[in-house]
Amino acid sequence: MDVGIRAFLSVPDNVSIFLDNGSFYFLRRNGHTSVDAYMDFVRHARPDWFPVPRDVIPNPSMSKEAQLSCLTTTMEQNRRFSQSGCVPVIHICDVLEEYLTAMIDCQSAGNTKAVAIGGIVPNLLRAPKARPYRHILDSTKRIRETFKSSRIHVFGIGGTATLHLAYLLQMDSVDSSGWRNRAARGIIQLPGRGDRLVAELGSWRGRRLSREEHEILDCCNCPGCRAFGIEGLSASGIEGFSHRAAHNLYTLVRELQLIESNLRDGTYNYWYATHLNNSIYRPLVEYALNMTQPVPCNDAGPTIPAPPARG
Ligand SMILES: [Zn+2]
Repeated sequence: MDVGIRAFLSVPDNVSIFLDNGSFYFLRRNGHTSVDAYMDFVRHARPDWFPVPRDVIPNPSMSKEAQLSCLTTTMEQNRRFSQSGCVPVIHICDVLEEYLTAMIDCQSAGNTKAVAIGGIVPNLLRAPKARPYRHILDSTKRIRETFKSSRIHVFGIGGTATLHLAYLLQMDSVDSSGWRNRAARGIIQLPGRGDRLVAELGSWRGRRLSREEHEILDCCNCPGCRAFGIEGLSASGIEGFSHRAAHNLYTLVRELQLIESNLRDGTYNYWYATHLNNSIYRPLVEYALNMTQPVPCNDAGPTIPAPPARG
C-alpha cells in the first residue's frame, strides 16, 4: 500500500494487475471481510482491475430461494460500488435470468464496462447438484450475448482444457490460483492434458506420468524444467514448489498462445482434436465451437436477448 502493488511486485507496465476479493474463501466458511479495508487497499495498492468487495457465491445444492438471497446481497454490492471502479460480479446459477435483469437495471445507474463471472468453480468441481458442463457453457454464452461490449472476466478458470472453453466463448480474461495450489500438492499441468502427480507430498493422490508425458516434459521450455528437468519438479520443499508453480503457469500461458495462433491460422479445428487429450473436455470444446458465432460488437450497451429455448 505504501508504493503500490505494481512497484512492490516489480510488474512491468504491459502486464495488467487483477485483484481478487477473496469471496471464494467464504463459500464453505462463515465470516466476513471489511469493505472499508478492501477499498482502502484498492485505493493505495492501485490494481488495474478489482471486483466489488464481496460477492456471495451460491452453491449448486442451494434452493432457488437461497440462490436468490445470494443474488440480492451480491447485487447490493454491485449497485453500491458501481461508481467506485469496482467490477460487478454475477454468478452462474439457477437464477441467471434474474441476475441479467438486475444487472441491466444496475447499469442504467452506473457505468459497467466490465463484468466478472463467478460461481463456476463449484460446478467444475462437481459439487452436489452441480450443473451439467454444457449448462455452464450455455450460461456463459448467454452472459456474453447480453454484455456484448463489456470486458468479461471469469473467476476460477485455470486448467489447460478450460482455457480453451473460455477463449472460444469470447471471455476477455480469466484467473485462478489452481496452478499454485496444484504445485503445493505436488501436481503439474501438461499441455492439452489432465494433471499429473510428480511429487509425493502427504496424502494427495493423482495419476502418474506416462512415458509419453515424460517426453513432453523433456521438451518443456519453462525456466524450471530447462534448468532442473523432471527432478526439479519432483523436489520437496519450497524449491520443488517453485519449479512446479513456474512450470504450471508457463504451461497455461503457452497453451493460450497455442490456442490464439491456431485460431488465427485457421488450424484450430484440426489442432485441438489432436492436442486435447482429455475425454471430458474435448467434446465440450467441440460443443463450444459449434455454439459460438462471432458476436458483433454493440456499443449501444447491454441488452438481454431472448432466453434460449428449453430442451
Ligand atoms: Zn516445465
